[in-house]
Amino acid sequence: MFNLSRYFSTLSFILIVLAAGVLGPLYQKISLDQLQDLAESRNLAMAQVFRNTLQPQLAALISQTVGRDEAPRETTEAMRGLRASVHDLLHDTAVIRLRIYNRLGNIVFSTDAGEVGQSRLDSEGFRTAMRGATLSDLSHRDNFQALLGSSAEVAVLATFIPIHGLDKAVEGAFEIDLDVSPFVTQLHRSLWWVTAGIVAVFGALDMLQYLVVRRAQGILEDQEGRIKAARDTLEIQVAARTDELRRTNSQLEGEIADRRKAQSKLNYLAYHDPLTGLANRRCFIERLEKSLDDAKRREERLAVLFIDLDQFKQVNDSLGHGVGDELLVSVAARLSEHVRLMDMLARLGGDEFICLMEGVRGPNEVEVLAGEIIAAFETPFRLGDHELFLSASVGISLFPDDGESVLDLLRDADTAMYRAKLLGRGNFHFYTPEMTRDAQARIRMENLLRRALDNGELAVHLQPQIEASSGRLVGAEALVRWHSPELGEVMPMSFIPLAEDSGLIVGLGNWVLRETCRQIMSWQESGFDLSQVSVNLSVKQLERPEFIDTLTAILDETGLAPERLKLELTESVVMAMDNSFALLERLRELGVGLALDDFGTGYSSLSYLKLLPVQQLKIDRSFVEGIGCNAGDEAIVRTVIELAGRLGFEVVAEGVETTQQAEFLAGLGCEQLQGYLHGRAVAPAEFRARWLVAK
Ligand code: C2E
Ligand code: CA
Ligand code: CA
Repeated sequence: MFNLSRYFSTLSFILIVLAAGVLGPLYQKISLDQLQDLAESRNLAMAQVFRNTLQPQLAALISQTVGRDEAPRETTEAMRGLRASVHDLLHDTAVIRLRIYNRLGNIVFSTDAGEVGQSRLDSEGFRTAMRGATLSDLSHRDNFQALLGSSAEVAVLATFIPIHGLDKAVEGAFEIDLDVSPFVTQLHRSLWWVTAGIVAVFGALDMLQYLVVRRAQGILEDQEGRIKAARDTLEIQVAARTDELRRTNSQLEGEIADRRKAQSKLNYLAYHDPLTGLANRRCFIERLEKSLDDAKRREERLAVLFIDLDQFKQVNDSLGHGVGDELLVSVAARLSEHVRLMDMLARLGGDEFICLMEGVRGPNEVEVLAGEIIAAFETPFRLGDHELFLSASVGISLFPDDGESVLDLLRDADTAMYRAKLLGRGNFHFYTPEMTRDAQARIRMENLLRRALDNGELAVHLQPQIEASSGRLVGAEALVRWHSPELGEVMPMSFIPLAEDSGLIVGLGNWVLRETCRQIMSWQESGFDLSQVSVNLSVKQLERPEFIDTLTAILDETGLAPERLKLELTESVVMAMDNSFALLERLRELGVGLALDDFGTGYSSLSYLKLLPVQQLKIDRSFVEGIGCNAGDEAIVRTVIELAGRLGFEVVAEGVETTQQAEFLAGLGCEQLQGYLHGRAVAPAEFRARWLVAK
């Protein structure tokens, strides 16, 4: 560190020496001048006093000498008188000499008698006095330093003043020489003291200043030490923090990269259907929003085509999800071929696809695209061993004709698609406002159905099942009926699909099951016996994990023997369920009977069915309908009955309306008949009255 005290002490020492060097001589000079002035004025005053005192004698003496060659004699009376006066005057004074000059520069009187007669015409003092002025002259003055050094020498101050005559004219000069040695000695002494004082004061100041600076230096050094320690600590901390930041940074970079990857994957997943790779619902909606904005600005039209596969559910149900997924991928690929590049194809979910067509000039263009889409399904899909015939229904909505928002257009296209489906498979339909009214009616119906159970608007009707050989009643099928105060009598065909879509079917189905069992037991208690009853089951009910428990509870609650209950499941439902074998097995273990409903409409093979724990097949009404008029249907009925017989299934024909059909079926060995020929489904009271006999 910079040594402050050393620096300051050196600097101040130099300054003090300089100050002393300047102040000392200055003081000497001032003192000398003062001394001289003092001595001069004192001497001058003294000279004037002496001259004035001696004036009368002087005038006489001077006038005597002028014009004479010889000096005045000592022995004269006047001279003696003068010398005596001078002697008196000089007594006890420091005057060492007194001279008197005449006009010619000759010494006419001197305390040093030997000098009388000598000429001092060249003397500066004399000449000054002769001009009427005064002069003081300090001998040794120029050699003052030397004078100070040695006190042995005598310092003399000579003062010259003029002597005036009566006419005021200068007659001569008067000189007195004063010994100023004591002054010089005094000055010498005081100068020494002053110098000593100056040195002492400055030395003390220097010392004090040195102490102050040394203390400051100490404080500074102390501070510096602390600052250095703090700086060192700080540096260590900074280094550690830098290190940590570097590490965190690289870690962060890694994390950011990972996150970006995950983000882009998420983005892809967020906007794409993972199965088909097509855009998903969200992606489609965002694109449609943008396209709508553009179309509004450019005053263009656009079309939304809602595509739904017709038989996908059956394929999925009967061949399994794996095949279903493969089929969806193939459908996506095939649809993509037929969609113009500028249009967008997306999968909304399940077997629903959606297509956007921009810059539409008129409905004809859209019709062409819809036709292409439907035609794309004409060639069957080959999936492994399977060759699948599929069709699609297309619903179309147009902007701005049918709606201005994404939601409106999607909803309208969906509505139109439902209508297309109703027209039969492989059709397209444009949206019309009347469809919305239908859809609203559906919504209304759904809301009413929701309340129907609680309000007791539902009832179970029973349809007889007859033994073909004897015409005896062997059982009945329970069919639900809805007496709606608002809608009137509603048939299951209109509300069961609705109940399935909305999930209401679970509560409804369980209610039918309980109500049917309760009815049979109630009849039994009153002495009427119905040996067997069939109840339809929806796949939604079966899928419930708690179904077996619910069924067990219902049987326990009502006390109906399980063998008297038969559950009707459609063929496709059984094929669709992953765990159908296990589930049916458990139902079998409970002792409940199982029937395959609507048999012949699904994809299952008889050999496969043989493995199922099912006892009864119900030949679908559509085949029975063809008896007597459709050889194909008759052939199917014959084959089914024959094979079922060989495989040990009991066969029931449903929808038997004519005796011809009944006879045909009975002739082939069909065990049971069910249909309007024998009786429609009727309310329990009527059923009991018509069919049951008290024991
Ligand atoms: P399904 O199980 O095939 O029931 C037979 C349907 O055919 C019944 O119609 C019945 O009234 C009708 N039918 C019976 N004989 C004849 C006939 O000779 N000619 C004609 N044309 N029709 C006949 P329904 O009662 O309208 O039931 C329709 C469908 O609703 C049923 O078809 C069944 O799938 C479903 N369903 C009815 N009740 C329930 C239920 O409680 N639960 C479930 N899950 N589905 C039910
Ligand atoms: Ca049935
Ligand atoms: Ca049926």
